Amino acid sequence: MSAREKSVVESVQTGMFIGGQWRGSSTGARLDVEDPSTGEVLTTVADASIEDGRAALDAAVAAGPSWAATPPRDRGEILRRAFELITERKDDLALLMTLEMGKPLKESLTEITYGAEFFRWFAEESVRIAGRWQVAPNGATRLLTMKQPVGPCLMITPWNFPLAMGTRKIGPAIAAGCTMVMKPASQTPLTMFFLTQILTECGLPDGVLNVVTTSTTGAVMEPLIRDPRLRKLTFTGSTPVGRSLVEQSAQGLLRVSMELGGNAPFLVFEDADLDRAVDGAMLAKMRNIGEACTAANRFIVHESVAAEFSACLTERMAALKVGRGTEDGVDVGPLIDGKARDKVAELVQDALDHGAKVRTGGSARSGKGYYYDPTVLSDVPADARINHEEVFGPVAPIATSATDDEAIAMANDTEHGLVACAFSVGLSRSMSVAERLETGMVAINQGIVSNPAAPFGGVKASGFGREGGAEGINEYLETKYVGLAL
Ligand code: NAP
Repeated sequence: MSAREKSVVESVQTGMFIGGQWRGSSTGARLDVEDPSTGEVLTTVADASIEDGRAALDAAVAAGPSWAATPPRDRGEILRRAFELITERKDDLALLMTLEMGKPLKESLTEITYGAEFFRWFAEESVRIAGRWQVAPNGATRLLTMKQPVGPCLMITPWNFPLAMGTRKIGPAIAAGCTMVMKPASQTPLTMFFLTQILTECGLPDGVLNVVTTSTTGAVMEPLIRDPRLRKLTFTGSTPVGRSLVEQSAQGLLRVSMELGGNAPFLVFEDADLDRAVDGAMLAKMRNIGEACTAANRFIVHESVAAEFSACLTERMAALKVGRGTEDGVDVGPLIDGKARDKVAELVQDALDHGAKVRTGGSARSGKGYYYDPTVLSDVPADARINHEEVFGPVAPIATSATDDEAIAMANDTEHGLVACAFSVGLSRSMSVAERLETGMVAINQGIVSNPAAPFGGVKASGFGREGGAEGINEYLETKYVGLAL
């Protein structure tokens, strides 16, 4: 680690944050945080026990009533100040994020802009929470509808976007007047601790946000999910873990939001602007090293343009610079760990066994860190595993389609339904395709759809609930109806 890297890591608190206090775990246990570009330990953080988890929920429950009664403008101002401080400290935060997650610094900075925007957006939403006044159809009574905070929330986030996956939950919860226990991914807790320090500095009262990190995640989370004082569970992560958390939450009939895995199709029709499609493909595939739930997982290209599209994409992918995310000019950092790299290698090998061809890449790098070369595969048959599982890495598998109907059938042939990208210059074809795709989001002629002002979320096995947009705050609000006889 360079002196600057060391000083940024050392500037971050590494305890749990409970009731406004930084503290170690009740057992004294610590958890290693690694740099995936070297496999070396960056630092250690507190490893929470079941008791620590419960203490975090105790603090959230205790802070609930006074926080719910805090004026919306005050809640919004805290978010607004935090937006400004994150932006001011973006260079330190980007370095920290790159060190623990691996993505290149420029990608960390992009995530910081995106993540901070959720605070600005929800600062603005906090003062727009409104109800309704109606005259009953028979004219005899009045129907008043009000919105109130859901109550204590449990938030569980993944490692791939350590800031944005948190701010997209914390932002609306603060705006709505909810208190929370946040559990960031154990591989990338430092970004969340950095954010917690900022929120504290911005005046967030004790107990509103409590953060625990643990290596025994299931054992520490399950008692919280089953605790009758918890009112909401919001989870971003893999579909299998999401399914088991939905089961656990059934007992307490919790409000639940699930942002789960994806298997995004990227469709290129014969009338697409190919330069734009290749630019979009690079973004859709390579943002975050391919480790995004929204990452294009399958390219479905009309047979008349497949050769040209594949050649251009191959050229662009082969030109990417792979290396440590802190180095100048690096486009592609390491994958999060050895398991993730092995999974990518396994899916590529399976595709090759099924008859796919390597256009570029196709191998893991030896030596320190978990690197996999940017890869393009063509002639990928439908039954290859890569068409049905998230590759979560820098691999673009290309298949061809002959008609729109075939392309849409291929796109919808998955249990997932988070996002799809489609490229066509025809407006009516684009709209018809958007309507027929079984996903929560569709990007037309663009490689990225995420926007804090829009509702992010999936259908089918990609989950339910929406984050961001006008919809985002509703996930943290209950509707109460009051009937009033005059
Ligand atoms: P993951 O293994 O499901 O982990 C996500 C979070 O769940 C982590 O904080 C993890 O804690 C925690 N967790 C794991 N097992 C748990 C259990 N039994 N009980 C409670 N919590 C548990 O997923 P991941 O590998 O970190 O993230 C990648 C997945 O997230 C991909 O499938 C990706 O598509 C999805 N994702 C979805 C979205 C979206 O918005 N739809 C966004 C980003 C990522 P530990 O770290 O301690 O294991």
